[in-house]
Amino acid sequence: MPNRTPPADVVVIGGGPAGLTTAAEAARAGARVVVLEQRTEDTHSRAGVIQPRVLELLDVRGRMDQFRAAAAKWRPDFEVPLYMYAGLPGLRYDQLDSKFPYALILPQMTTEHLLEEWAVEQGADIRHGVTYLSHTENGDRVTVTAQDTRGATVEVEASYLIGADGSRSKVRAAAGIPFEGRKTEMTAVAVDAELSFPWQASMQMRRNEHGWVLAYPFGHGITRFIIVAEHRRHVSKTEPATIPEVQESLRLVFGTDFGVKSAKWLSRYGDAHRMVPAFRSNRVLLVGEATRVHYPASGIGMNYCIQDAFNLGWKLGWVTTGRAPDAFLDTYHDERHPVLTALMADVAAQCTLHFDFSAGGLALKDFTERELIPIPEVNAILRDRLSGFGTSYHRETDPHIADGTRISDFRLTSPGTSYAEVARKAGFVLVDTQSAEMPRTLPGAITIATADTPLPRELDGAATVLIRPDAYVARAWNIRASDDEVLTAYRTAIGHPEPAVVVAP
Ligand SMILES: Cc1cc2nc3c(=O)[nH]c(=O)nc-3n(C[C@H](O)[C@H](O)[C@H](O)COP(=O)(O)OP(=O)(O)OC[C@H]3O[C@@H](n4cnc5c(N)ncnc54)[C@H](O)[C@@H]3O)c2cc1C
Repeated sequence: MPNRTPPADVVVIGGGPAGLTTAAEAARAGARVVVLEQRTEDTHSRAGVIQPRVLELLDVRGRMDQFRAAAAKWRPDFEVPLYMYAGLPGLRYDQLDSKFPYALILPQMTTEHLLEEWAVEQGADIRHGVTYLSHTENGDRVTVTAQDTRGATVEVEASYLIGADGSRSKVRAAAGIPFEGRKTEMTAVAVDAELSFPWQASMQMRRNEHGWVLAYPFGHGITRFIIVAEHRRHVSKTEPATIPEVQESLRLVFGTDFGVKSAKWLSRYGDAHRMVPAFRSNRVLLVGEATRVHYPASGIGMNYCIQDAFNLGWKLGWVTTGRAPDAFLDTYHDERHPVLTALMADVAAQCTLHFDFSAGGLALKDFTERELIPIPEVNAILRDRLSGFGTSYHRETDPHIADGTRISDFRLTSPGTSYAEVARKAGFVLVDTQSAEMPRTLPGAITIATADTPLPRELDGAATVLIRPDAYVARAWNIRASDDEVLTAYRTAIGHPEPAVVVAP
């Protein structure tokens, strides 16, 4: 007899960054969530940095104290104010208009621990050692068949199945969603190394005709090296990387092997470039690397996966609790697919520059670093791509220029705190600059706050702003919006054809 879990609203396959964030966000929005993760132990960290937009999103969930505290345990200088693009230094994160003008160094393993803690706090049921095998769809239900570590069959029934099971997604294959693109052509090596002598410098990178190396101490005696060796770029991903290979590449590029003596983790990874044409098939939705795989250029892969999950999670909660129709989930594809298509194009461009160590390629790198990246407008464009600040869900038909744009924290006059503090406990937030003396009658899903003018620059002179749960603008108005206008905007934002239920404030 299979072991049947109580019916859920959402079953998530995969407890990596995308699955855990989706679970936390969906559970926070009221869904009953079960996560099945095949691993019983940590994998070694791949991602080493969290980008500014993800830091902002974690902040509006009240998680940043934990993330900063965890980062501080790894190394004291965990904030990186100057970042890189295509392996070239000079991106001025310190000029970002944000509470978080830096990337945060944190091993992915720790990020996953913190995301799991958050998901559990929100009520998600996370089961380790359970491997997804298959699923069937029957009307508005999905039944997942999985297997636990003792070989027993586990069945979970839910309204939606989320494939967050990484680039080799079995859920994707079972749902018949194609994975289009090309296989690996170039490879690089990542190593978390133990050195014979301590090296505590901050993040450094170097390049020459032999390749490119990024080096940074991870803390706890570990130094991470990311190595693109010119003469080994075409080595197969299946050929194991070795310590002598690492030492040789470091000597060729840096002039020293840093006393690398052993590896906590050593991996050869590739530049496979594939993406799905659709994020949804009936009751199955894909999130994170299940939707695409690309070279981990400039440390953005996991960060875009987490941003996908912030887009999807609250929508799952809204739909499964009956506050929004099923079709509302299609907006996840509509909003994120263009963002990820642009990401893929950007990664392809970065790789072309990054992997070219010919005389011409090096000259182009020098020119880009010295002449282009320092131009403030260029710097702003590039850092918007990596930081996540450039992502907007604005459509040409939106009435206000700020509709769909990102919201970061800003000061409120009522309830006397900041947007991030209110957003932690709220669904939608309505910020009014002139509302104190004019009470509103709005659904309970909308928390009303007041702020002084002017609102942040990106809101472009707005007097009233309705902000979605994922900290993007649903609708902005330049003059105070009426209750009817706010209600209409709210219904539009949740794709609801029916009038919303209005409750007295
Ligand atoms: C060398 C390297 C360096 C990188 N550095 C960075 C960086 O600095 N910054 C950055 O943002 N990104 C970086 N990345 C990318 C980042 O690691 C990935 O984007 C991220 O892990 C993807 O998250 P995910 O949750 O979508 O998938 P995954 O992390 O792959 O998680 C998928 C989960 O699903 C589970 N699973 C799979 N199949 C099943 C099944 N059948 N049943 C149950 N569970 C299953 C897996 O065990 C896994 O836990 C790097 C990647 C590499 C290779």
